[in-house]
Amino acid sequence: MIAVAIDGPAGAGKSTIAKKVSAELGFIYVDTGAIYRAVGLACIKKGIDEGDSRAVKKLLEDIDIRIIFFNGEQHILLNDEDVSGEIRTETVSMAASTVSAIPEVREFLLALQRDFALTDNVIMDGRDIGTVVLPNAQVKIFLTASPEVRARRRVEQLAEKGESADYETVLADIVKRDHNDSSREIAPLKPADSAFIVDTSDITLEESVKKIADIIKENIE
Ligand code: C5P
Repeated sequence: MIAVAIDGPAGAGKSTIAKKVSAELGFIYVDTGAIYRAVGLACIKKGIDEGDSRAVKKLLEDIDIRIIFFNGEQHILLNDEDVSGEIRTETVSMAASTVSAIPEVREFLLALQRDFALTDNVIMDGRDIGTVVLPNAQVKIFLTASPEVRARRRVEQLAEKGESADYETVLADIVKRDHNDSSREIAPLKPADSAFIVDTSDITLEESVKKIADIIKENIE
């Protein structure tokens, strides 16, 4: 099996690029942020403070999270309910970032992620795929862009969906999430030693897709 790890900060374009490249290569694409979001959403639904690690650990006993594929699209089931749409809010992003610093949450989600790489060729994106989840991945990519560019792209993405967002607020959220994700003790966001670092700040989406696809093709043959 071939595994490709794509890590990087929020909004660098990981999922958009990984989706396109996996379709081109015929790999399955696994977005691991979605399962951290599902844990964050579970806390919100139960009224649990995401920073209260004891309460979150207790919650893990009652939740079942599954990743399924439907028409080639990833869906997330939280206790059998499809929450794929519900997890895509700014509030859930922040809750996901907070719970993701709890070691038991990471442990709880580890096997779920690793299992995919046993049975399929995968492109998996997240924060610690190349460093922790799939340390033996054949290709590791660290995709990044400046916080300002990522905030601008996020505002544009929301505008396309008919939602308005304030640039400064989005930027502040991105900077806060970057800080949370890179400074946590367990599995912090950082490039794996052998990762190719790709900065997409000054290149288009098409150029980024081509660059990543080229790196993967050159390194799996
Ligand atoms: O990628 P996405 O923005 O959906 O991830 C939501 C949050 O989940 C991230 O801010 C990060 O804290 C956490 N996460 C993680 N490890 C991963 C994927 C996501 O800690 N592999």
